[in-house]
Amino acid sequence: MSRVRRPIVAGNWKMHTTVAEASNLAQKIAAALAGAQGVDVVICPPFTALTAVYEVIADTSVLLGAQNVNAAASGAFTGEVSWTMLQGLCSHVIVGHSERRSYYHETDEEVNEKVRAVLDAGMTPIACVGERLEQRDAGETAPFVAGQVRALLAGVTPEAARRIVIAYEPLWAIGTGRAATGVAAQEMAALIRDVVGEAYGAGVAAALRVQYGGSVSGTNASEFAAQPDVDGTLVGGASLKPADFAAIVRAFAG
Ligand code: PEP
Repeated sequence: MSRVRRPIVAGNWKMHTTVAEASNLAQKIAAALAGAQGVDVVICPPFTALTAVYEVIADTSVLLGAQNVNAAASGAFTGEVSWTMLQGLCSHVIVGHSERRSYYHETDEEVNEKVRAVLDAGMTPIACVGERLEQRDAGETAPFVAGQVRALLAGVTPEAARRIVIAYEPLWAIGTGRAATGVAAQEMAALIRDVVGEAYGAGVAAALRVQYGGSVSGTNASEFAAQPDVDGTLVGGASLKPADFAAIVRAFAG
């Protein structure tokens, strides 16, 4: 399939890996990706391993992302990591992952503040949206996800909006082994693009990259790569397995 946008595949390592394990995993991923072209690949280790992984991938095309950020530049926020601390280290930051929304009660307003802070800092937010199973069963998916997208874009200029990556991640598909179908992912990616188009016009909508995330593996990745509005994936579990992760990247490459 000839692609309009450069695909982007990101690996979210979540709360896994010591510093030594992360360095080792990053090395293995970089080696497994040798020769894969035409796709942005981002790995997102835990904060503690960012510096070590930065060194490991310095001479490769693999990009570094963080899993979260605090929208303030600095201050008395024990345990938090600000955008100023990530700037110069990371090119990407995952924002509003459903685990942060669910377990740490991040609101749409906080997600929007983080998106704006990351953009202002010159980094790329990978902003996550997605419905719960009850919402899907109740037929509320489209309005709910559209609302999340509008909320994360509040106050973002058209120039900055072009740089955002939006990850559609239905909660029922994350870590369950029950991925959405390619058709369902396409439907939601197209909807997200329409919402962005309503806000910013066709040019920004056409430039926007939308990922699907939720139980993507080396075996099902090609189903998502075949969808015209799905520009990559956000990968959890499989991103800890170099061969699987490389197979996902290759499904979107070339
Ligand atoms: C995720 O956490 O963003 C995710 C998609 O996880 P998994 O691939 O394990 O479903």
